[in-house]
Amino acid sequence: MRKEKSLIEIRIAELNQGVHEYTFTCKASDFKNPEIEEPAFNGDIQVTVAAKKTDTEIVTAIETVTDAELSCDICLAPVHRRLSGQFTIFFVFGNQGNEAHETDGEYRTLPPSATAIDLTEDVRETLLLSLPVKVVCEAYPECNALRTDEETQTEDDQTQNSNWKASLQELKHKFH
Ligand SMILES: [Zn+2]
Repeated sequence: MRKEKSLIEIRIAELNQGVHEYTFTCKASDFKNPEIEEPAFNGDIQVTVAAKKTDTEIVTAIETVTDAELSCDICLAPVHRRLSGQFTIFFVFGNQGNEAHETDGEYRTLPPSATAIDLTEDVRETLLLSLPVKVVCEAYPECNALRTDEETQTEDDQTQNSNWKASLQELKHKFH
């Protein structure tokens, strides 16, 4: 039975060594998962994947960007947010039978016969993790009183973002 092509998939069968960039545009409904469907994710979702292939591994850095329609936790006013999420996974070639570790964090074993990497689940999780824990609007003082925590979180996001960019630059740098 022929497997249907995955939503976010990288062909690795004839991939040269070095860094490759892929971009995907998708919709929340493409993931067929109620957790990331409406109303929050109702716009286009931009996914960028940088993959670095070496003799021993393929490192993939995923970035997701989407405009989300959220609502204030306190007054329920609509809040528009640009969300971005990052996730890096190390796919290590090998078949040492350590499948037990396959879901351990960000290291996974890739069978030498693999022709593609399906990142759909990882992108889905990256999207979910990019959702802010707390959402407050800027319209009312009552809501603003809670903004301090949120600002801290935004700073964290920015740090994460620049970390991702830095690691992407690093990936590229190593090959020049
Ligand atoms: Zn509010």
